[in-house]
Amino acid sequence: MAAYVAGLNEKPFRAKQLMQWIHQRGVADINDMSDLAKSFRATLLDKAEVLSLPVMKDEHATDGTRKWLLDVGAGNAVESVFIPEDDRGTLCISSQAGCAVNCRFCSTGRQGFSRNLTSGEIIGQLWFAEHLLRSDPEAIRRIEKYPTPGWEHTGRVISNVVMMGMGEPLLNYDNVVSALRLMLDDRAYGLSRRRVTVSTSGVVPMIDRLAQDCPVALAVSLHAPNDALRDQLVPLNQKYPLHELLAACERYLPFAPRDFLTFEYCMLDGVNDSDIQAKELVRLLRNIKCKINLIPFNPFPESGLKRSSDQRIHAFFGILLDAGMVATVRKTRGDDIAAACGQLAGDVVDRTKVRERALHKAEIELTELESDEDTDEELNARSNEQPIEWLKKLN
Ligand code: SAH
Ligand code: SF4
Repeated sequence: MAAYVAGLNEKPFRAKQLMQWIHQRGVADINDMSDLAKSFRATLLDKAEVLSLPVMKDEHATDGTRKWLLDVGAGNAVESVFIPEDDRGTLCISSQAGCAVNCRFCSTGRQGFSRNLTSGEIIGQLWFAEHLLRSDPEAIRRIEKYPTPGWEHTGRVISNVVMMGMGEPLLNYDNVVSALRLMLDDRAYGLSRRRVTVSTSGVVPMIDRLAQDCPVALAVSLHAPNDALRDQLVPLNQKYPLHELLAACERYLPFAPRDFLTFEYCMLDGVNDSDIQAKELVRLLRNIKCKINLIPFNPFPESGLKRSSDQRIHAFFGILLDAGMVATVRKTRGDDIAAACGQLAGDVVDRTKVRERALHKAEIELTELESDEDTDEELNARSNEQPIEWLKKLN
């Protein structure tokens, strides 16, 4: 903004004023930016526009979750999700149209990669949601009932941001960091570093850079307690295996806004949810200060995978707790509008046609599985001993 303003031969403090008008107050009409000199306003009217992404869909879930489908051009769309809770309002935002990492259990990943979002498109999701919700009586009622500390001063509806929408944020590093800095800037959104989370599938060199450039809260998508299984579930593991990933996590910790990191673990029936795997996970993470967040898998039609039963999730969770680990089970939100983790598909022009191929294969696979008519014993044997072979077959 400073460079832009300098290019218009204006003084640097104008950049701060513009930031406040646009990001803090949510004003899009340059005519309303009343403390800017008339001549500067005229220049801006001629040369600039404050735009947010066109909204293609606005959906409300029964639990108050709200999802927007935003048009990013050329047939691509991304999604943002607002999740209201008693003591906070969280916005989950996207960093890419599609995702190249192609995790086995993720709807975004299965559709292939289209492009990186610009920093404007990333921060634009927060700009849009924050300022729209400020005029939503339901959102206002909620923050009046459960004000977050400091809310009275800022009037903010969104208290937390998680980069857990579509895309791998650390594979769009520069644009994500610019957007993060705006989220933290007092002249923009003024969020604390503890309340902004980047979730990554494990792009090791970028974890180190983030520690230096903008150390916000870090969540690492683990999903498996060993390399053999993680190679199958999160293909990036073949490039950055677990010992490298965990070493990067250790290096990040001194910079993290809290004294722990979060590991996300998506609970997949018969794949990564056995007692043995829970114990293996304990051994893997025993020496690192962390919280393990178990996410019940949110199914989508072509995945061929199933959510672990509640009973299994609680048994797994129990093993973690008994071993002295800190763990939580994530409550699934907004699943009636496909806004839950991993269900965000947007509408991406799929250059690789992964999605169609996956659908076709899943149909064949389902027919095969149905005709197999496995007994419970066979299913158990498969879930405990051969998840990798099974995943390969499914792939
Ligand atoms: N690319 C980043 C952030 C986006 S995904 C990452 O992978 O961390 C946000 C979280 O949702 C990740 O932990 C991801 O593994 C998880 N997730 C993806 N698909 C899911 C699904 N179908 N059900 C539950 N969680 C899922
Ligand atoms: Fe990409 Fe994250 Fe989905 Fe993996 S889980 S495909 S990294 S968005």
